[in-house]
Amino acid sequence: MELLRQEATLLSLGDRVLSFDREGRPYHYFRQGRTYKRALDGSLHLRFREGERRRRRLSEEEALALYGEILDLARRHLRDERRRREVLRWTPEALLDPTPYRRAYAWPVSILPPDAYLSVVLQATTGCTWNRCAFCSFYQDRPFRKRSEEEFRAHVEAVLDLLGRGRLLRRGVFLADGNALALSEPLLPLLEEVGRRFPGEPILGFLDLFAGVRKEASWWERLAALGLRRVYVGLETGHPPLLALLNKPGHPREAIPLVGVLKRAGLSLGVILMVGAGGRSYAKAHREDSLRLLSELPLDRGDIVYLSPFQETPGTPYAALGLEPLPHVEAELALWAEAIRRMGLKAARYDIREFLY
Ligand code: SF4
Repeated sequence: MELLRQEATLLSLGDRVLSFDREGRPYHYFRQGRTYKRALDGSLHLRFREGERRRRRLSEEEALALYGEILDLARRHLRDERRRREVLRWTPEALLDPTPYRRAYAWPVSILPPDAYLSVVLQATTGCTWNRCAFCSFYQDRPFRKRSEEEFRAHVEAVLDLLGRGRLLRRGVFLADGNALALSEPLLPLLEEVGRRFPGEPILGFLDLFAGVRKEASWWERLAALGLRRVYVGLETGHPPLLALLNKPGHPREAIPLVGVLKRAGLSLGVILMVGAGGRSYAKAHREDSLRLLSELPLDRGDIVYLSPFQETPGTPYAALGLEPLPHVEAELALWAEAIRRMGLKAARYDIREFLY
């Protein structure tokens, strides 16, 4: 059975479901309990459950074979002429080719919050102004750089080229990289450009505490007037000694005035905490101080508290801290989530291994 949506073509064949964007590229293939997702760089990612949730990136050979299988199914079962043309103009090699993605993104998109996976990512900056948190490797491959207005306009064009009619699947614009919202005045023309090219779309972005506290309330009101809707604050922990150990600047309690001004400007928040960071020895203080801080933040039901099960990333200074890992991070996360929901707030999981753009 085929379903011809304005933004996608779906083909349902018993235990298989195939989804194509309006450029004709497959983006989702469900086959016998396993899900394959295509990222915009052409790579294919498998997700399945075997006791726990598992995931891996397919090798090029595997991806080519799977793209071949998908195209073959489309050739045999897709009836609508226009949609057939969209899909069957692709080859497995063209679907795997990362060149169009690399033309749009000089540096790959490293991470997004889970509710922003389907946004259009625009890099107003590349890298992170700080780039020295002990646990974070997202931007270690690049220096911090702000894009000029001209560079940004060219980047927007390249991203639109990459997405083509695949843009119909997406909602909102995520202003990357790590903390693009740390920019001052130079951010304004970039936001105006986003407003011109994506009228009415909500704009989202990360903000670190140390960058946010330096801005006045009136600044956030200006950004809100230009379309900024949600800000994701990487708080990580409410326990000051742990934040210092993780080498993240700022003091957790600075979140109280920051969240206050962001809320007064009409913005919604995603507050991110890393459950399990600091390992066994910090677990109790990390939980207690974080929950206490959350209870003091002026958050409401329009905001999300993201709980990220801590993943030690190889190659980061975190390993050298010699901390004994927390043995049951999932149980700990459930405890946090329950306490947060009791405060009347939304808690959601933020597993960085699930990220795909
Ligand atoms: S956690 Fe945020 S501030 Fe720290 S290095 Fe990573 S992107 Fe930069």
